[in-house]
Amino acid sequence: MASDFLPTAEGLASKRVFINSSCPLCVDGFENAVHLLSCCSVAADCWRMAYLSSLAGSNLDVFSWCKNCLQDLEKEKKELAAMVCWGIWTNRNKMVWHGVKSSPVDLVNQVSNQLVAWSGVRRRTVSDVSRIIDRNDGLVKWRSPATGWIKASTDAAVFQQGEGIAVGCIVRDLKGNIIQTRQQQFLGDFYPRSAELIAIREALSWLKDWHNVVILSRMQWMLFWILNIQFLL
Ligand SMILES: [Zn+2]
Repeated sequence: MASDFLPTAEGLASKRVFINSSCPLCVDGFENAVHLLSCCSVAADCWRMAYLSSLAGSNLDVFSWCKNCLQDLEKEKKELAAMVCWGIWTNRNKMVWHGVKSSPVDLVNQVSNQLVAWSGVRRRTVSDVSRIIDRNDGLVKWRSPATGWIKASTDAAVFQQGEGIAVGCIVRDLKGNIIQTRQQQFLGDFYPRSAELIAIREALSWLKDWHNVVILSRMQWMLFWILNIQFLL
């Protein structure tokens, strides 16, 4: 990518292969690498979604953009940036070859989840990877908390067309019995990750006077971010 070898309209034209030069994602720009990855309005939305807005709107060539913008990022942000670039390029190809594209929200969520899954696999030791697969591997099931603790599971749903979000929390005891539930709605436009954060915030607020509570969220990467864990080793 930094060597500008991506077969964009500009890259192909340099090899005397001429195709439609308009960016297939925004249809409002000349398609070269730095447009696709930084200047395009779709790319800008992706970077904003990924909390990497500094990577949007570059007027540099692609090599300088990589060098200048990426070198100051922390390691995990560099890896996320690489995944977003890959997502933008595959999204562009999907549009060129199949006429469909993902929204920036879906694109960033997808590459974030892939990054967490990939880093989790990479973190395993060789013995972990090579062990015999168990019958219950991959089975999603609830596990009871330690004695004296309760578990609160949070979740959120985003409704289309600005109809708001709903967040919920279920509190269970040691045996999995539901002790209490809570659900709340908020009006307005929210990104999915914002909705998940609000669900956690509301659960923490609601349960602030409780003791020995474990908060669960299905958004693993979000918990890593909240806890500021260096999850990309
Ligand atoms: Zn574009």
